[in-house]
Amino acid sequence: MLYLDNSATTQILPAVKEAMLPYLLEEFGNPSSKYYSLAEKASKAVKEAREQVSRLIGCNADEVIFTSGATESNNMIIKGIVDFYGDSNKHIITSKTEHPSVLETCRYLEQKGFRVTYLDVDRYGRIDLVQLANILETPPLLVSIMWGNNEIGSLNQIKEISKLCVEKDVFFHTDATQVIGKVPVDLNQEGFEGVQFLSCSAHKFHGPKGIGVAVIKKDELGLRQKITPLLHGGGQEYDYRSGTLPVHNIVGMGKAAELAFFNLYNNVEKLKTLESYLQDILLDKFGEVIQFNHDSTDKIPGILSVQFQGVNNETLIKTLSPIVAVSTGSACSSTKPSHVLQAIGLSMEEIRSTIRFSLSHLIDKTDLDIFDRL
Ligand code: PMP
Repeated sequence: MLYLDNSATTQILPAVKEAMLPYLLEEFGNPSSKYYSLAEKASKAVKEAREQVSRLIGCNADEVIFTSGATESNNMIIKGIVDFYGDSNKHIITSKTEHPSVLETCRYLEQKGFRVTYLDVDRYGRIDLVQLANILETPPLLVSIMWGNNEIGSLNQIKEISKLCVEKDVFFHTDATQVIGKVPVDLNQEGFEGVQFLSCSAHKFHGPKGIGVAVIKKDELGLRQKITPLLHGGGQEYDYRSGTLPVHNIVGMGKAAELAFFNLYNNVEKLKTLESYLQDILLDKFGEVIQFNHDSTDKIPGILSVQFQGVNNETLIKTLSPIVAVSTGSACSSTKPSHVLQAIGLSMEEIRSTIRFSLSHLIDKTDLDIFDRL
C-alpha cells in the first residue's frame, strides 16, 4: 500500500528508531534525578535533543520546551498568555483556517469572556495583511496565525505578520506543525523577531508521536516571555511544563530534527519533484474532472488538495484504500465538512469531492506510477 497521508502523520525513520531504543531499554534513568550515571546520561541526551531541535527551528536551545505535541503547545501558549496577561486586554486575533487545537482553544476562551477575531482567508487560504494591519490599529493581546495549512498547504507571510506585531507590541504565536522539515524556518533570521511563540510536533517530520515543542523566545534582555503553565507540578521544563520527561521520545524528536535540518534542501527538492509528477499523472488521467484547491507555487511542498468533480470523497478513499492511503483533508475533524475548505469558499459539493494527497521524501517517483495502473 502506498502511503500518501503524510500530513496526518509520518513513518519514523530507521535512524530515529535506533536512537530511541537505548532510552526505552537500558538507559531508563530520569533526567531530573541527580549524581548517578543513568540520570546523567538521560539528562545529556535531553540536552542534545534540545540543541538538535533548536538548530532546526533557529532559536536558542533553552527556548525549546518539550510538550506532548502541537495540540498541547497550542493550548499551553494561547491559554498561558491569556491567563497571565488577559486582565488588561481581552482580544485575540486568529484565522478561520487554523487547526482545531487553536480554534477550539479560542472558542473556549470566548466562553470565558475573551473576544476573538477570526480573520478571513483568500482562495488559497492566506490571511490578508491589510486586514490584519487595520485590526492591529487597536492592538489585541495576541495574534495566533498558522505558518502553513495542513489541508491545502497554503503559507502565510509570517515575516510580514511578525513585523506588524513588533510594531504594535503584540504577542505573536505561530503553529508551524506542518512546515517544519518542509519549509526553511529560522527564527533567528532578521524580520522574524516578532515570532515569540511557535508550536510543532515530531511525528510530522518522521519522528515519534506524543512529543512536540513549544518555543518560547527570550526578549532582547535575555528574559523569557512569561506565561502561566498549563500543567503545574515539578516544573521540569524551565517551569513552563511539568511531568517526567519522556526521554526516548525527546531523543527521537532530536534525531528527526537533526536529519530534517541536514537534509532540508534535498527533501524539499524531492517533495517538489514528486508533487509535480503526481500532479501531471492526475491531470493526465483525470484532467476532465479534477480541480486543484491549492496554490501552484507558494505552498508547502508535497500537499495536493484535489477535487474529483461528481465523486464522493469518502467513497473514493474507501475504494482506493487497499492500494493507496489518502484522506479527505484532515484526520482531526473527519466527521465535519472541512472548515478550511469552507473558508476558501468551496461549496459543500466541492468539499465532499476533495481529497488530500500528502507526500514524503521517502516515496520513490516510480511508486506514484500506481495511479497510471488504476
Ligand atoms: N497543528 C497543525 C497544523 C496540525 O496539522 C496538527 C496535526 N494534525 C496539529 C496542530 C496537532 O498536532 P498533534 O496532533 O501532534 O498534537
